[in-house]
Amino acid sequence: MNQELLQKVLRSPRLPSLPTIALKVIDLCRQSDINIKQIATTISNDPALSTKVLKTANSSFYGLSQMVSTISHAIVILGLNSVKTLALGFSLVGNFRDQNATGFPMIEFWRRSLYSAVSARTIARHVNLPEQEEAFLCCLMQDLGMLALSQTLGEDYDALVVETGSEHAKLWRNERKQFDLDHMQVVGAMAGKWKLPKTLSKPIRHHHVPSQSKDELESLTQAVYLGNLSADAFLDTRRPNVEKFFNKLNQCFKLNRDVGEHLLGQVTKGVNELADLFEIDTEKVPDVQDILSDAKETLLELSLESQSQAIELAERNQKLQEQVVRDPLTGIANRGRFTEFLSKHFVEAQVTDQPISVIFIDVDRFKSVNDDHGHLVGDSVLVTLAGLMDEHCPETGLAARYGGEEFALILPRCDRLGAARLAESLRQAVEKHTIQAAEELTLNVTISLGVSSFDGRQFFQRPEQLIESADKAVYVAKASGRNCVRVFVPKCKTPLKQAAPTVA
Ligand code: GH3
Ligand code: MG
Ligand code: MG
Repeated sequence: MNQELLQKVLRSPRLPSLPTIALKVIDLCRQSDINIKQIATTISNDPALSTKVLKTANSSFYGLSQMVSTISHAIVILGLNSVKTLALGFSLVGNFRDQNATGFPMIEFWRRSLYSAVSARTIARHVNLPEQEEAFLCCLMQDLGMLALSQTLGEDYDALVVETGSEHAKLWRNERKQFDLDHMQVVGAMAGKWKLPKTLSKPIRHHHVPSQSKDELESLTQAVYLGNLSADAFLDTRRPNVEKFFNKLNQCFKLNRDVGEHLLGQVTKGVNELADLFEIDTEKVPDVQDILSDAKETLLELSLESQSQAIELAERNQKLQEQVVRDPLTGIANRGRFTEFLSKHFVEAQVTDQPISVIFIDVDRFKSVNDDHGHLVGDSVLVTLAGLMDEHCPETGLAARYGGEEFALILPRCDRLGAARLAESLRQAVEKHTIQAAEELTLNVTISLGVSSFDGRQFFQRPEQLIESADKAVYVAKASGRNCVRVFVPKCKTPLKQAAPTVA
């Protein structure tokens, strides 16, 4: 924790202070012989405050069977704790709300505080916690650390709050990341400074991490924490928020989803009533059913989104895979793919006793094409030739660019004769084909081809031997005047170690 910054915040003359009336009420309540009359007088001395307390006490949020008309009466009917809480709550909100904070989203801040306060109290009441009023007040106070941080850090902090928007838990994490100090640590220290009773300071100190408060105040802290989650469900209606609220409600108090929905409904009513009294602009209070159906829609959107993301990813992977196996200039298989394909089918041929053939192709006097017409024309010739080879290659085979102006065809289950025929027809096709190499340039080129086959008779042990022999056959074709096919024929058809090959 950034102690230096914390001290700066606490020492700041602009640190939010508790209103005098609040301090007085807290002080009176802490005394061993609580003087109810004195408390009532203190509150009544502030007419605006006492009017609000009475209005609230008479609202359906408290559900009293009879109207109360004075603070003393309210204390008798509602109990000291409720009246005290309301008085503190009103004076707090009134005091801090009008503070000068230009860049700080004050309206959103109090809106969230009110939602969480009403929620926490609703939950506390449902599970019969004795500290229902404290749950309410804790929520009103829990985020005052944000105001303190805003007063000390100014724009830097306000920008972070605005940027994080309604994602409150994210704000808390970002504060730690950016300042090594979060609003919960700040308000914890402020609670100490204000000498708040433990019933208030403890839940406030742990409102994001209730598991850290394992004592008699654990349930109260959980109610405050759940109040926060409920506020998130109302104000940031993404699916995980309302789901998280239901999950945690179950974890903390063993209350199921139906109860959760019912409680959210009560929160809506409570916020509607208290917003006016606290003069907090809540905009339109969302209906619980809307939140739940929004959540369902978001869930659907999320799953659709992840589906389309998955498709996009698969397409991208496919493209990447193709990039890995394709020659970028000609679009046919590259050398890596050639080697892989040959290895696989060579083994298959060995195992199944089927033939496999390879045709190696080298463009004749290609250097002169480049020299005479430029490299780009040379490129376009290569592209056209690659197309012709691909056309001549059977479905079961593979046409590849081996490198430079050298190409190769792999022909699984094709014997020497079949491969030689195919090589010859390809040679003729190339010879006949007039290549449109540029807008006003047509060219004719020829190729030299070498054929080699594995015919199941074990002359070749490895695919590389097939390549070497096909290459040798090309060499012989070149030596024979180019534009022709030469076939490599092993001299001995039995697996003799020193078999001397010939090229026919
Ligand atoms: P030969 O008939 O003996 O095969 O003669 P050649 O000119 O075809 O052989 P050589 O190996 O001397 O020249 C091959 C040329 O192919 C040289 C090189 O610049 C050209 N080349 C290799 N790759 C590419 C390419 O991607 N694009 C272009 N335009 N030219 C290429
Ligand atoms: Mg060459
Ligand atoms: Mg060449």
